[in-house]
Amino acid sequence: MDGRRTWMSILCCGFGLMTVQCDSQRSGELSVLPFGELDLSRSGPGQRRGRTPSGQAQAEWAAEGHRPWRYIVIHHSATQRGSAALFDKWHRAKGWDELGYHFVIDNGDGGPDGRIEVGRRWRTQKWGAHCGGTPNNEYNNYGIGICLVGDFSRRGASRRQLAALKRLVTYLAATYNIPADRVVGHCDAPNASTACPGPRLHDYVRNTLRPDLARYLATGK
Ligand SMILES: [Zn+2]
Repeated sequence: MDGRRTWMSILCCGFGLMTVQCDSQRSGELSVLPFGELDLSRSGPGQRRGRTPSGQAQAEWAAEGHRPWRYIVIHHSATQRGSAALFDKWHRAKGWDELGYHFVIDNGDGGPDGRIEVGRRWRTQKWGAHCGGTPNNEYNNYGIGICLVGDFSRRGASRRQLAALKRLVTYLAATYNIPADRVVGHCDAPNASTACPGPRLHDYVRNTLRPDLARYLATGK
């Protein structure tokens, strides 16, 4: 890891150009982990102990000394099929350092429906490359990027994908003290000119996921 950084314009999610700052560094491996049950009773606000959505202990899931995360940014791949490994390949082919997202939730076409894949970016607690163009690159520097495989312009994500998203987002928000109003779709980011994550998934985020999360963070239920 030599720490050199370059600015580059890239096409994100099939919509619009964005600019990201990329480290020039050695490639790493993706960690593909099976989706596990999440015990929310052990992951209240500010709590970093307990099991993660991948079923691993926190210490095994991500590097010590986590970034000061402020946002959770939800994307769709705008493709019918995909996986963390496939997107990692595509992102590298564009000249990115590696998979731009921290997590990918599969849809059954490229990986098991509802599986949460943990990217190396998350495990190393690295800035994101998924939501450029915001002031001070805020949403990349402090935004956890989650991509659901699929195109949610006309149809919604699968039930298993939504269940996995809810568990993952609830866990991340509770663990890193991220309020519900900072769980956003890519299109909600300042200066965004994209329909990502698609109107159907965006509706779910705004009308179901955020209210449910706000209630959980307030009441623990
Ligand atoms: Zn996006």
